[in-house]
Amino acid sequence: MAAQILVVEDELSIQELIAVNLVRAGHRVQRAVDAETAQDMIKAALPDLILLDWMLPGISGIDLARRLRAAPYSRDVSIIMLTARSDERDKITGLETGVDDFITKPFSPRELLARITAVLRRRLPHIATDAIEVNGLRLDSATHRVTAFGTEVALGPTEFRLLRFLMTHTEQVHSRAQLLNQVWGDHVFVEDRTVDVHIRRLRAALEDSSFDAMIQTVRGSGYRFSRSV
Ligand code: CA
Repeated sequence: MAAQILVVEDELSIQELIAVNLVRAGHRVQRAVDAETAQDMIKAALPDLILLDWMLPGISGIDLARRLRAAPYSRDVSIIMLTARSDERDKITGLETGVDDFITKPFSPRELLARITAVLRRRLPHIATDAIEVNGLRLDSATHRVTAFGTEVALGPTEFRLLRFLMTHTEQVHSRAQLLNQVWGDHVFVEDRTVDVHIRRLRAALEDSSFDAMIQTVRGSGYRFSRSV
């Protein structure tokens, strides 16, 4: 499992320790030392998960969590709070804010990774699942490879994410706006027709194996990945 994780922590030694362990576990890591910097990074690209220290200079971690939950585009992002306090009232405040989990400092790298995996499995099953197979089309998230009956299919990174989302949400119709949200994260600078461009590329890449037929256009609604083709 490889996720994009943003670590927001002002104590640099702790930030470094966390980052090293996450990278070792195969995750991609971004770092911020305060909430303002984190907010800019989140606006530029929505991470899969945010490790957020409660006590930060300026805007506190819990206030940033509140802001993220209030904004439509970051509302569903996974958040794990890091706290130095084991105060139950803090925990209640955090849960009301809608954070996914808490880790009290000091914590072991093993505990941190286990909590991250648990949250990702619950919130982002399409990332947590290493390999998915539908009728001979196989997508492996760990190696970023797609094969059709064992033959490698070359895909760009966006087509890969698009296919991964479709293969983990089969039979449902997804609007272009939903796909933008799920695949691109931040769609401020992306237009609806960008989805059509990448769907076209994805279909072209799957044409040789005829798997392109599984990606159906639903007139006036969007796209659907159907298993029954
Ligand atoms: Ca701190």
